[in-house]
Amino acid sequence: MSETIFAKIIRRELPADIVYEDDEILAFRDINPKAPVHVLVIPKIEIATINDLEDEHAELIGKMVLAAQKVARQEGIAEEGYRLVFNCNQHGCQVVFHIHMHLLGGKQLRGSAA
Ligand code: AMP
Repeated sequence: MSETIFAKIIRRELPADIVYEDDEILAFRDINPKAPVHVLVIPKIEIATINDLEDEHAELIGKMVLAAQKVARQEGIAEEGYRLVFNCNQHGCQVVFHIHMHLLGGKQLRGSAA
């Protein structure tokens, strides 16, 4: 698997505005935010796309959602609401091939999906 920007962020070789970290997960602000709050929640292990998930990753994905919930509370957007998005491959507009969940909020978001 080729090295991604996110692997470098995990190893602290690239700077990032980290808002949450535990043994398995890191969350940091998106460098090109699409909303007042735009945080990326990533696993520390490298998984390229959602297509590469196995049954053994079920708990990890659950922990990513719970981490996003904590960050949403921390950012003060939990009650008004937010959106959690995974992009996968070309049609999903995935650019970085290390799975990540976008946490978007802090304003009225439009549409429901695309
Ligand atoms: P995706 O299109 O789902 O692959 O999203 C990748 C996201 O990573 C985009 O929203 C980028 O703005 C974001 N991104 C790329 N490089 C960095 C970086 N060094 N620090 C924070 N976010 C980044």
